[in-house]
Amino acid sequence: MKRFTTVLVLALIATAFAAPLFANGGSEDAGKQIVGIAMPTQSSQRWIQDGGYMKEELEKRGYAVDLQYAEDNIDAQVAQIENMIVKGANALVIAAIDGAALFNVLEQAAENDVKIISYDRLIINSPHVSYYATFDNFGVGVLQGGYIVDALDLESGAGPFNVELFAGSPDDTNAYYFFDGAMSKLQPFIDSGQVVVPSGQVEFDKVATLRWDGAVAQQRMDNLLAAYYTDKDVDAVLSPYDGLSIGILSALKSVGYGSAKEIPVVTGQDAEIPSMKSILAGEQASTVFKDTRVLAKRASDMVDAVLQGVEPEINDTTTYDNGTGIIPSFLEIPVSVDETNWEEALIDSGYYTKDQLGM
Ligand code: BGC
Repeated sequence: MKRFTTVLVLALIATAFAAPLFANGGSEDAGKQIVGIAMPTQSSQRWIQDGGYMKEELEKRGYAVDLQYAEDNIDAQVAQIENMIVKGANALVIAAIDGAALFNVLEQAAENDVKIISYDRLIINSPHVSYYATFDNFGVGVLQGGYIVDALDLESGAGPFNVELFAGSPDDTNAYYFFDGAMSKLQPFIDSGQVVVPSGQVEFDKVATLRWDGAVAQQRMDNLLAAYYTDKDVDAVLSPYDGLSIGILSALKSVGYGSAKEIPVVTGQDAEIPSMKSILAGEQASTVFKDTRVLAKRASDMVDAVLQGVEPEINDTTTYDNGTGIIPSFLEIPVSVDETNWEEALIDSGYYTKDQLGM
C-alpha cells in the first residue's frame, strides 16, 4: 500500500516534466530490468557522450534504459528521477546538477528499492548512494595546475607571471577537487611571488562559476581584463572546463590577445570538440581528457553488481565522504592533452576521427 501511495503521488508530481519513457520504447522492453540515467545537460558534449555510451552498454547487457537530460534545471532533474521511479526503474545512474538537491527523491527511490549509482559527480547528504564511478578529480586539477607550472617554466625560477584563476560550479563537489588539485601545484609559486594574481581573487568562492556557464566565465574575464589589465598582460588562466575556456578565450581575443598580443596559457577539461579545434589552432593550450567510454562501462559494471547483489570492483574507499559516510568509488585516470599528444590520446584511441576535429 505504501509503495502504491508513493508511486501515485510521484506520478502526479512527475507529470509536469514527463518525457516519453523509452526513446526506443515498446514491447521489446517487456520483462527487462530498467535503468534510469539522469544526466545534467546536453549543452556540453561530454554528457551527451556519457549518456549515449551508457545507454548502448546497458542495452547490450539486456537492460531497458531511460536516458534523460535536465538542461541544468534542478527541478526538472528531480522530476525526471521521480518519473523513473514511477515507471519502475530498478537502478538509477545519476550525474547530479546540484549534488545536494536530491535528498528527498532518493528517499523515495530507496523506499521503492531502487539502487543508486553516483556518476562522475558525487551526490551528497543521501545515505542511499551505493557506489560512485568517477575520475581522479583531484588528479584532474593537478594536471591543470601542473600544465601552467610547466608551460611557464616555473620550476626553473621563471617569473613573475600574471595568472587568473577560475573554478567550476559550487554545487558540484568535483569543482572543489579540481581547484584544490590545481592549487596544490600553483600555491607554492604564488607564495614565492613567481605567480601573481593581479585581481587578488584566489579563493574558491571568488573564482567559482555557477552551473559551469561559459557566458558567466566570459563576463568575469571581461571584467578582470578591464579592471586589472590596462597596464599589464595575462600570462595564464586556470580554467577547469572547456566550456569556460572557450568563453575566457573569447574575452581575451576581444582585447587583442592572439593577434596584437600573445595568447595566454589557458587550460581546460573534457577534450570537447570546440576546444580540440582551439588547441589545434594554437589558442587553448591544453585540456584534460576523461574517456567517457571508460566511465560509462565502469558505471554499467556497478549497475550489474548492485542488481545482482554482488560487490563491484572499486579502487578507492577513503576519498569521497558524501556527508553520510564514505561512498566506495572507482576513480578512472585522466590524461592531459595538448598539441603534442592529441593524436595518440584521441585519434589512435578511436575517441574522435580527424574529420570530427576538422582535420
Ligand atoms: C565534470 C567535468 C565537467 C564539468 C562541467 C564536472 O562535474 O567532472 O568533466 O567539465 O562537470 O560539465
